[in-house]
Amino acid sequence: MKLKIGVIKGDGIGPEVVNEAMKVLDKVGVVYGHEFDYTQLLMGGASIDTYGVPLTDETIELAKNSDAVLLGSIGGDAKTSPWYKLEPSKRPEAGLLKIRKALNLFANLRPAVLYDELKGACPLKEEITEGGFDMMIMRELTGGLYFGERSTEEKNGVLTATDSLTYTEDEIRRIAKRGFDIAMKRRKKVTSVDKANVLDSSRLWRKVVEEVAKDYPEVTLEHMLVDNCAMQLVKNPRQFDVILTENMFGDILSDEASMMTGSIGMLASASLNETKFGMYEPSGGSAPDIAGKGIANPIATILSAAMMLRFSFDLDQEADAIENAVENVLKDGYRTIDIMSEGKVQIGTAEMGNKICSYITK
Ligand code: NAD
Repeated sequence: MKLKIGVIKGDGIGPEVVNEAMKVLDKVGVVYGHEFDYTQLLMGGASIDTYGVPLTDETIELAKNSDAVLLGSIGGDAKTSPWYKLEPSKRPEAGLLKIRKALNLFANLRPAVLYDELKGACPLKEEITEGGFDMMIMRELTGGLYFGERSTEEKNGVLTATDSLTYTEDEIRRIAKRGFDIAMKRRKKVTSVDKANVLDSSRLWRKVVEEVAKDYPEVTLEHMLVDNCAMQLVKNPRQFDVILTENMFGDILSDEASMMTGSIGMLASASLNETKFGMYEPSGGSAPDIAGKGIANPIATILSAAMMLRFSFDLDQEADAIENAVENVLKDGYRTIDIMSEGKVQIGTAEMGNKICSYITK
């Protein structure tokens, strides 16, 4: 296959970790016979320095013309970087919000995987995490409470703030379909999380999810109230495969789940639109405190590239090869500083990329 990838290396550790992900993709290309054609794009601080704005219309067009986008991370140190003297709409983060909207990325995927080798980093008791866990949190990203109408006004002399939570059946249907499609590539279980005992929007969510489920007879669907889900995540995380939920619930649950996996340097993510197109990026930020030192963990970005192969290009075998390589490198005791523990071998960003490449096989 010949695939066009828009690459936004970004700021801070972004270029360092993206370089390693590209190295791993190129190795996959050699082993499996694919060609990855990269177009370098600027966003965030790097774009401000070159064009004066965090994202240009030209960059958006080039991103749209790619098959997928691989992003490092953007932003700098808010206290020292000149980018933060600009008004909020011109700062690096504004580029990220703008590109998500321009590309209509409504489905956010955050895998939470606890590798057996890193279970010491999980704050849960060992008997709960024995054998690790592997779940995918699928969060609706462009609707609900964060995009509803809001106001603060004085009513009868009392300041009153209102935020509205709205979902249309179409918005629910498109994310639900995505959730079931992804479950079909995994262990075929969807846990739909809502608050249907209280909220009308959740009752509609549940109804539409049940309708969509009829098209996926192989997938087991269960419904769970969000408060119960927050408890179940720490009580029995292994029960979950795909957690499908709305914007705010997903925001909170995905952070809870990610805390259970150890380092932010391990957490991949993807944001998808209605087609196969997606933007793939590590969950962490640009880590200005360690930028340029060659010590950042590139695994989150490398696993994001694996998600790109799986979800945008349907290259499941190649994605498996990357994920297995990461697991085997960890099994053999290699660690970047953020996941280092006694008796293991500490290596830097580029060495970690090289090691993972060397474990990629057919
Ligand atoms: P951060 O995630 O950049 O860093 C938090 C801590 O985690 C730091 O100690 C950092 O060294 C460590 N860390 C992060 N990624 C790591 C990796 N791959 N390997 C090893 N250690 C890693 O969060 P922050 O400090 O709050 O934010 C820094 C900048 O990143 C800010 O400008 C923020 O706006 C931006 N940011 C960008 C994104 C994005 O591009 N999607 C996301 C979050 C934050």
